[in-house]
Amino acid sequence: MPHRARLTVDLSALDRNYRTLCAVAAGAEVAPVVKADGYGLGAARVSRRLWESGARSFFVARLDEGEALRKGLGETRPARIFVLDGLVPGTADRVRRSGLIPVLADPGQVAAARQAEPQLEVGLHVDTGMNRQGLSPDDLAGFARGGSAGLKPVLLMSHLGSATLPGDPRNALQLARFREARSRLPDLPASLAASAGTFLGPEWRFDMVRPGVSLFGGGPFEQPDPRIEAVATLDAPIL
Ligand SMILES: *Cc1c(COP(=O)(O)O)cnc(C)c1O
Repeated sequence: MPHRARLTVDLSALDRNYRTLCAVAAGAEVAPVVKADGYGLGAARVSRRLWESGARSFFVARLDEGEALRKGLGETRPARIFVLDGLVPGTADRVRRSGLIPVLADPGQVAAARQAEPQLEVGLHVDTGMNRQGLSPDDLAGFARGGSAGLKPVLLMSHLGSATLPGDPRNALQLARFREARSRLPDLPASLAASAGTFLGPEWRFDMVRPGVSLFGGGPFEQPDPRIEAVATLDAPIL
């Protein structure tokens, strides 16, 4: 009996959760969110396994997480890696060297991305009501009216603030605003849902869903869910 706590990470349960999310997402791309070192389970290890499961796009929060994930995946796994913090001015060379895709989150970042030579592929984050980060619908409208010069957008995304409360009216409001934003850039692949949104229903899933916690064993609605298996198990001796 070891005298220390032990954390066990079950990568086959991770694979089964990925497949469950693919089945629920019914055709939308399932792009794992592996920020905060893969929710504490080791971003490189879980991402290599998720690549085997079929994942080809990943999200991290920070530039240094993206650089580390690129190394961890290696040349044989040329995944798309999106960085949710966006483009911190002065870091375009690092972004390009690691082949990352910053998700632009404010007009200053859009301006910084335009100056990058050669062009960077970018995502666009539009704020639909969570009020954490993102371009305003007006910024986005300006962008859509021809402001895309110098940029290669590959994704339009937003994030739900209340999806773990399925009956919350703010969800429908955010969905309506996201549809409006999407109508301005109809050719871009779109993504609104994290774990909870993926389970809310088909209209939330668009082209790509971005689950984090439910891949790693957390029920989408902040309680255990029979469709999701535990990935992390903690054992510790009782003193
Ligand atoms: C953290 C995060 C996710 C994943 O959220 P979960 O609730 O863990 O599924 C998706 N999108 C964005 C923008 C995030 O910040």
